[in-house]
Amino acid sequence: MVKSAGPVRVRMAPSPTGFLHIGTARTALFNWLFARKYGGVFILRIEDTDTERSRPEFERHLLENLHWLGLDWGEGPDLSGDRGDFGPYRQSERSAIYRRYLEKLLDEKKAYYCYCTKEELEGSRQSLLAAGLPPKYSGKCRELTEPPPGREPQVIRLKVPGIKIKFQDLVRGPVEFDAELFGDLIIARDLGSVLYNFAVVVDDFEMKISHVIRGEDHLSNTPKQILFAQALGFALPVYAHLPLILSSSGKGKMSKRESETNLETYRAQGYLPEAIINFLALLGWHPAGDKEFLSRTELLAEFDLRRVQKASAFFNSQKLDFLNSLYIRRLDLADLVERTRPFAKRPVGEAQLTKMLELLRDRLVRLADFETESFFLFELPAYEPALLIWKKSDAAGARAALRKAATSWSALPAESFAHRDALAAATEPLVDPADKGAFYWPLRVALTGLAASPEPLATACVLGQAESLSRIAQALAKLQTMPDA
Ligand code: GLU
Repeated sequence: MVKSAGPVRVRMAPSPTGFLHIGTARTALFNWLFARKYGGVFILRIEDTDTERSRPEFERHLLENLHWLGLDWGEGPDLSGDRGDFGPYRQSERSAIYRRYLEKLLDEKKAYYCYCTKEELEGSRQSLLAAGLPPKYSGKCRELTEPPPGREPQVIRLKVPGIKIKFQDLVRGPVEFDAELFGDLIIARDLGSVLYNFAVVVDDFEMKISHVIRGEDHLSNTPKQILFAQALGFALPVYAHLPLILSSSGKGKMSKRESETNLETYRAQGYLPEAIINFLALLGWHPAGDKEFLSRTELLAEFDLRRVQKASAFFNSQKLDFLNSLYIRRLDLADLVERTRPFAKRPVGEAQLTKMLELLRDRLVRLADFETESFFLFELPAYEPALLIWKKSDAAGARAALRKAATSWSALPAESFAHRDALAAATEPLVDPADKGAFYWPLRVALTGLAASPEPLATACVLGQAESLSRIAQALAKLQTMPDA
C-alpha cells in the first residue's frame, strides 16, 4: 500500500439519491476489506448535499442493505444517531464546518465572489466554443476589490493556478491533469451552500481520511478536490480509483436506474450476502491464483489493493448464480431453512421444510427458486401417462414396476420413510440391477409428475408413505388408459 501519514481511515460516501447500487456496494466492500486488513476504521458518510434528490428513505435503504451485507462501519450515521468522534456524518448537517473553511479561503483571497450571471457565462461559453477554445470561466471577477454596482454575488470561486495536478493512484499509477483547462472553479453558491466537491475535501480532511477508495467515475473529481485541498493547506489522502463495472451484455456502463444494479433486487430473489460479497470482490480484483470461491475470511487474508485491475470489470450474472448455488449447497441445513422460510409461499412446518430443502438444495440457484422447485411436493403436477414409460419398456412394464413398489411400500412401517437409507434397503431387492431404469423411471414420474426431478427414494421420504402410495395409485390409474405394447 502507498503509505498514508496517519492510521488507516477509509470511508464510503454514498449519496442517498437511489437504491444501493452494485457499484456502491463494491466500493463499500473494498473500503471495508482495506480497513480490516490494516486495522483501520471504515467510516460511512452520507453525501446528501443534493437536497432535491436526497431522501431519508434512500438513506435507510442504504444503511439497511449495507448491514445485510455485513459491511459494518465503525463511524457513521445510524438511525439512532451518530457513532464516532468526527460527526455529524451527514453532509446536510455540516454546513457550519464548510462555512468556516469557505470564509478562510475568502479571507486569504484564495477565493472570491463572482457576479457574472448565468446568461453572461453561457454567452462567453458559446463564443469560446465557437472559437474552438476550452469553455472555461474567463476569471473576470477574480481581481475585483469592490462588488460591481447594482450586481448580486452569484457564486464563490476558487482562484485556480495554471498548474499540472499530479498524483499517484494506487490502482491507476501516476495520473496527471492540466488545471489550466478548468478556469476558476465554483466552490459554493453562497456561504451556506458549498458544492459537492468542496464538501468532500473538507470532510475527508476533518474525518482524517487516509485513503480515498472509490469508483473510477469519480476520477474527474479528483483534480478539483486536490486543488481545493491545496488551497486549504490540507495534506492529500492516498487515492485508489476502482475500475468501472460494465454490463456483461456489452452495452457499456451499468446504469443507476437499471433494476439489475439495485442490490435489493438480488436480495429479494434470495441471493445470499456471502455470495454477493464474494462476487463483488471479484469485480476488478482477483487473488493470486485463480480461486474464485472465497469466504470473507479468505478475502480478508488475500485482499490487496495492488491487485485491483485498471481495466473495466464485467458484471457476469452467470458467475453470481454459480457462486450463489455453491453457497446455498454449503450452508448449514438449519441456517438454510431459516433463510428460505421467507421465500416459502405455502404453509409448511419446520420439519417438513427441512426435509424439502435437503432434497432440493442442490437445485436452487436462488432461494426464491424454492417456490418452483418444490411445487411438485405440495401438489402433484398434471402429466401424460406416456411419461411413465421407460424408454426400453412399455405400459405393462411400468405397471409391473409400480405395483411391485406399491405392494412392498404399503407393507413397510412408517419409519422406513423417515430415512432414505431405510427405504433403499427395502426397495433395492425389488430392482433388476441390469435395468434399474425400468423400475425407478416410472416411480420417479409417479411421485413427482416430472421428468426432471430429484431421485425417487429421497422424494418418497419427503412425501411420506401415504402420499407416495396415493401418487403411485394415481399413476396406475393413468396407465389403465394405455394399451400394453
Ligand atoms: N457520493 C459519491 C457517490 O455516491 C461518492 C463520492 C466519493 O466517494 O468521493 O458516488
